Amino acid sequence: MSGIQEVDVVMAGAGGGAYPAAFRLARAGMTVLMADIKGVMSGNCLAEGCVPSKTVREVAHHRLRQGRFGGYGLPGTLGVDYGKVVAHKDNVQRLRYDQHKVELSAEPKIRLVKGRVRFLDAHTVAVDGERGEDRYRARFILVASGSDIVVPPLPGAEFCLTSRDLFALSPTLTSLPASLGIIGGGYIGLETASMLGALGSRVTLFEQGARVLTGMDGKMVGELVSLLDPSIEILTEVHVREVRKSSGGYDILFVHGEPGEIKTRTFERVMVAAGRRPVIPEGLSALGIEVAKKGIVADPAMRTTLPHVYAAGDVNGITPLFHAAVRQSLVAAHNILGGEASCDYFDPGAVPTTVFTLPEAAYVGLVPETARKRGIPFLSGRYDFAEDSRAQILGETGGGITLLFEPGSLRLLGGTIVGVDAGNLIGEIGLALAGGLTARDLATYADQHPMAAEGIGRAARSLF
Ligand code: ADP
Repeated sequence: MSGIQEVDVVMAGAGGGAYPAAFRLARAGMTVLMADIKGVMSGNCLAEGCVPSKTVREVAHHRLRQGRFGGYGLPGTLGVDYGKVVAHKDNVQRLRYDQHKVELSAEPKIRLVKGRVRFLDAHTVAVDGERGEDRYRARFILVASGSDIVVPPLPGAEFCLTSRDLFALSPTLTSLPASLGIIGGGYIGLETASMLGALGSRVTLFEQGARVLTGMDGKMVGELVSLLDPSIEILTEVHVREVRKSSGGYDILFVHGEPGEIKTRTFERVMVAAGRRPVIPEGLSALGIEVAKKGIVADPAMRTTLPHVYAAGDVNGITPLFHAAVRQSLVAAHNILGGEASCDYFDPGAVPTTVFTLPEAAYVGLVPETARKRGIPFLSGRYDFAEDSRAQILGETGGGITLLFEPGSLRLLGGTIVGVDAGNLIGEIGLALAGGLTARDLATYADQHPMAAEGIGRAARSLF
């Protein structure tokens, strides 16, 4: 320990909720201490989340596309050396870590230290690192400690892989399992089922609810599920009781249908994908900062119940997505710079979400199910990818774009997309939503041909 060091801002975590604010504040002249258990910038997204999983998914997508139209004369579907897929994934991660290192070294006002942040009082934290404890006092604190994988208290849970085993740098899983049982039908379980299925695993997904992707629009999910590779087996209303090691690999013991009757299925590997939970730094609750089940309570200015302490990213549970964390981080930075006056607010209503299955599904703003539940009237515009030139070129003609508009004003309220390029297209719809555009604006914009974005204008024009 070496006395207390003074800085303007301390950040717990160095992921998407933290570093955009760190750079913004440093550019405005503030000194920033970022502390992260990993000792590197970019959090779980790069360590084991979005970037590595989308790298593996991209390879799976190439393989799927190559297999279409009779394989373009190539002999059968291409084989996959999963070790090489993992090597590519690792390379992408290293590339980005190196890039972040350069960005960080160019900003002398930010110091990144490796260690775990613990609150001592409302302005002082201890960072427990490899060489003991350091203490920092700051005018402002940004908590961006993110979220962690939930492993349910299931007998045999220790035998299960998690997304970390698949996507961390130098991951545990380096060969493609011939068969894979996935427990959990949220977006991580479904995306993994879809990508490993497309790479050649035989996948069965076990979901306890009546359908996968609970909480997302029912019609969108139904359309997505109908387009997934039918060789991916999805079991719903299944209660997994236990995972056991067996001679054939791992057994999943579960109840499905007949109450009380325990069934068994054997897989080479089993993965659990049962969600994520916020990581709350030690000592924070004792300061009177309110913490709810979904995370630290933060207002739209990203302030916690202690005005000089901000919470951005997965830790507040508002919209646990990397791009939302980045936006929240900048909101926090702007409000720190604004002193007592809030000068920026986070709008969760215009944050796009994509489920990166094959094909993908995406949505933003108001979706039909929510509108009906809340009695919000809407007009909907629709475009089917069956008519779309890019979808025809790729042989991915399932699904389409649904847009919701306010009757009368025709202001865009939200939209869902299932099918080709959904993850890209939802960006244009999100921007139109954030900008308050109407069906007329979308209908008169010359979306590029022959790209699937043409469907956005066409969906709007279906109203006229
Ligand atoms: P977000 O996108 O919301 O910023 P991430 O989960 O990507 O979330 O990043 C959060 C980061 O915070 C992770 O890298 C994690 O190691 C780090 N972290 C979690 N708890 C602490 C803590 N008490 N002190 C320092 N770092 C922490």
